[in-house]
Amino acid sequence: AKDSGKNTYSYFNDSMKAKLMEKIQLQSELRKAIENEEFVVYYQPQVDLKTDKIVGFEALLRWMHPAKGLIMPNEFIPIAEETGLIVQIGTRVLKEACKQLKFWEEEGFHKLSIAVNISARQFKDLEFVNTIGAILEETNMQPNHLDLEITETIALSDLEYTVKTIDKLEKMGVSFSLDDFGTGYSSMNYLKSLPVHNIKIDKSFLDTVVDNIPEQKIVETIISLAHSLNLVVIAEGVEQHKQEIFLKSVNCNKAQGYFYSEPVPKEEAGSILRNINLM
Ligand code: C2E
Ligand code: CA
Ligand code: CA
Ligand code: CA
Repeated sequence: AKDSGKNTYSYFNDSMKAKLMEKIQLQSELRKAIENEEFVVYYQPQVDLKTDKIVGFEALLRWMHPAKGLIMPNEFIPIAEETGLIVQIGTRVLKEACKQLKFWEEEGFHKLSIAVNISARQFKDLEFVNTIGAILEETNMQPNHLDLEITETIALSDLEYTVKTIDKLEKMGVSFSLDDFGTGYSSMNYLKSLPVHNIKIDKSFLDTVVDNIPEQKIVETIISLAHSLNLVVIAEGVEQHKQEIFLKSVNCNKAQGYFYSEPVPKEEAGSILRNINLM
């Protein structure tokens, strides 16, 4: 009987077992990480292509694991999302990022914005709008300097809810960016029905844009379409000067990428800001 029992479950092989164990372990470590405040927010500058000044930062989460060291978001956000822990983690990121922006505002940088990534679970949470309101109140940050990044998948999964939620936050002054633009569905088509304020052109377009004329045409078309809808365009994943030159030639508004800076801790972000913007 023992043997047949084992056979029945033989599809559950050792590698699946190992993966599941790893996931369970990661889940419990995530819970501990929240308690022990092991999450750190990094900041990546967003540059205005007309003035070459820093006009904002994107907040990007890092996990400083006591034994494993730095863990990148792609390794833990999906599990945090699955377990719902992302709602708690995301609220911390929002608070931390808004506090940091307030700090830079008080230093004299009055026109910066802070972009924060919002996951599906967070966006759909019934308390989402209230949470944002409370954080804005608590940190005393200017609401029109907060920019929430959502992906097309999140935005389109329930369009009616998306429009309602964005409307409520827009009334408070908060703006929205459509992240990873161009990677999803027939993006152009639905863009007019989404009340977002900015689009972020995905890195994959930038990777090949320099010596690829059709790709250049696509990016140029995305930008002029976005401008005709009064949207601000941010290019992400800019790594080379040649890409920046191209983006300026097609009137892209802002850029973000390793060419300017990798995401860095707040102190370093502050010194980059003082160096570039006071020049
Ligand atoms: P994303 O929102 O598309 O963020 C851009 C990613 O590209 C970041 O990776 C950033 O470090 C990276 N990047 C920026 N410039 C360059 C470049 O020039 N070259 C290359 N190769 N990469 C560049 P990161 O920080 O590992 O974050 C990965 C993803 O994790 C993010 O993608 C976002 O979807 C998610 N994420 C990060 N922080 C948070 C958070 O606080 N909450 C949620 N829900 N998701 C987050
Ligand atoms: Ca993003
Ligand atoms: Ca992105
Ligand atoms: Ca991405």
